[in-house]
Parts: sequence; structure tokens; C-alpha cells
Amino acid sequence: MERLDGVKTSFLGKGTVELLGPELQRMGVTRALVVTDRFLYESGAAARVGEVLARAGAEYAVFYQVRPNPTVQVVEECAAAIRGLSIQLLVALGGGSAIDTAKAASILAANGGRLEDYEGKDKSRTPGVPIAVVNTTAATGMDALTHAIEATLSREATPITDKDALWAVEQIVKYLSKAVADGGNEEARSMMAYAQYVAGMAFSNAGLGMVHAMAHALGGQYNLPHGVCNAVLLPYVLSFHLRCPVCQKRLVKVARAMGLEEENGPAVIAAVQALNRQIGIPARLSELKGVDPVDFPNLSALALQDICMASDQLAPAAEEVTAVYLAAYNG
Ligand SMILES: [Zn+2]
Repeated sequence: MERLDGVKTSFLGKGTVELLGPELQRMGVTRALVVTDRFLYESGAAARVGEVLARAGAEYAVFYQVRPNPTVQVVEECAAAIRGLSIQLLVALGGGSAIDTAKAASILAANGGRLEDYEGKDKSRTPGVPIAVVNTTAATGMDALTHAIEATLSREATPITDKDALWAVEQIVKYLSKAVADGGNEEARSMMAYAQYVAGMAFSNAGLGMVHAMAHALGGQYNLPHGVCNAVLLPYVLSFHLRCPVCQKRLVKVARAMGLEEENGPAVIAAVQALNRQIGIPARLSELKGVDPVDFPNLSALALQDICMASDQLAPAAEEVTAVYLAAYNG
């Protein structure tokens, strides 16, 4: 048996933000909240999205308290704004943190209670306020690649999720560095948007794995961006998974999707490292601000409790997770 969850309406491609206007009118939305961080607020990006909303006749406010790895407090403040301003639509502007804040606040605002009540799977009763997403960061691209690879390796992978995940891998490898090197490359940017979206469809059904479990603990501890944590950890966690025969087989498919000459796990790892280098992601955790190996045993304990660990092919011991953090630290 398989349950598939999809999304209602999506718009992808260049200039899509303009389509928010007509869509708002169609939905009868007159009050929207842009959810973003201080940087995108001060750079004027939030105001540009706001103009589109205003032209469509909607009143809008900007919530710009999003931080990397949003805290419970930030989500609760955002939920309070949604309720206080009778918001009908959220526009998440930025990367994973803006999207996660919007998702969590949307559920909290609609269902009440405390954020902790929703830990786990399928805990919310009332659907949240709808969310539109305007994506902006390169690290989001590596996050999407991690989503696609982890969905492929997952215990819950199916032929349907594989098809989406591997297609996303193919596009991300083809277009991410082009989109980063030349922000004006519209084809690359729009293909990245498709790939992120499709990777999202894959992992929302197949689940994720140890990279995300470790990245959640790491990002939460040091307030580091989610996409960067995943990007740095991905090659090290994949190396750890080379001991798993199922993963080895599936990494052959990933290598094929990446168009690599050698179709095996080590070639995938080398390709991920090369992509990280090209887009300026650090090669090791020691290059990220504040990371201290003293904390690794604690982070491992947190990672093992993370929901993403449940769909991983391996059930590592705490010392093994610590060893992967250390390998990633030393490079
Ligand atoms: Zn992610």
C-alpha cells in the first residue's frame, strides 16, 4: 500500500511572482504575510513581492524575523501575526528556513496549541493557511539535491518517488552551478525551480535520511543555514552508506542520473564534492562558524531521535554518527 500526498496549485518559471496577483484574486485573498529574513527585507526583495500583492488589491505585512533554523519562538511569533492580522496567504521568501517557518506557523495558527504538540507525523487536524514560495538561495539547490538523493536511498522509496527524485538529481547537476555562476541564466534558474519542486514531491512521500537528521541537529545547535549543513554533510554521510548493499545499488542509479562516467557510490560522492566547490560551499565542518567537536556526542543523540532517521537504510549507533560528524569536521 502506498499513500501519495501532492500539492494543490504550483507555478514555476521565470516571472512567476507576477502570477501571484491573479491567483490572489482568484482565491479571494485580501490579506497576505510575506515571511522572510532581515537580509531580504533590507535588500528590498520583500518590498518587490509586496508590490505584486498590493497591485492585486491585497493588504500585506512583512514578517522578517526568520533565522537559519527557526526557533520555536520565531514560529510562535509568526503564528501570532497570522492570527492577529487575519492573514489568508503566506508568501515564504528565501530558502529552507523561510519555507519551514511559514509551514510550521501556518499549521500552528490554524490548529492552536504549542509547536511541540505537532512533533512527529500527521499530527495536525486543520489545514494551515496556504503558502506561496519564492525561492532565492544557492544552498537551497544543494538542499534539493540532498532531498533527491536521500529520497532515492530511503527505506520508503517507491518507483514513483524514484522517478521524481532521479529526474531532480539530473536537473540539479546540470543547472545548479550555471544558475549560481550567472544569475541571469533564466533557463538554469527556472530548471532549478522545477527540480527543487520535484525533489520535494519525492521526499514528501519517500522521507529523508541521516544527512537531514544530522543537519537538523547541527543547524539547530549553531544556527547555521539548513542547506549549507546538508551540503557539507552529504558526501560524508554517503561515504558511511557505502557499507550498505541496498544503498550501493541505488547510488548506481544516482550516478547514472548525474551522467557520471563511473556508475558507483564513490563517483557520486566525488561529484557532490565538486559541485560544493563550484558553488562555494565549505568542504568541512571546521570551516563553519562555531562548530566544536566537543558537542558531537550530543548532536549524535539528537540526530538519532530525528524523524528523518526512521527512513534511513542504516540504523547507526551513536558512536558511528559521532564518527561521521568528526570525519566531516576534519575533512
Ligand atoms: Zn532539507
